Amino acid sequence: MPGDAGWTGRSVINYTLEICAQCRLPFAADSTKPWLRKCTPCWKLGKGYVLGKADRDQQFLARQLDDMARRCAPAPAPALSRDVVTTLITLCHPDKHQNSAVATRATAMLLDLRSVVNGR
Ligand SMILES: [Zn+2]
Repeated sequence: MPGDAGWTGRSVINYTLEICAQCRLPFAADSTKPWLRKCTPCWKLGKGYVLGKADRDQQFLARQLDDMARRCAPAPAPALSRDVVTTLITLCHPDKHQNSAVATRATAMLLDLRSVVNGR
């Protein structure tokens, strides 16, 4: 775009965060070359090169990023069983709440939920 702080006409590589097919750590992959599935250190080791400081730093940062992502990942939500959903329907059924609109809506949502919770 004209006037964009000198970027006009320059080739800008778009990177995406991918997981290395060999070491399973994250790495910045050139999105224009989707066939490159390994991080640079793994690619170099596969070709018999000795890793330099920049490669070891990349591996260190990838491990740090992977560890941070694992620690920040949300815990899986506990699964609702069909029996639990049936109990909730019984408790909030409109018949037990003077046919209130809220109870009717909640029961409808629970009935939808029960239809997708198959026998768990
Ligand atoms: Zn790798």
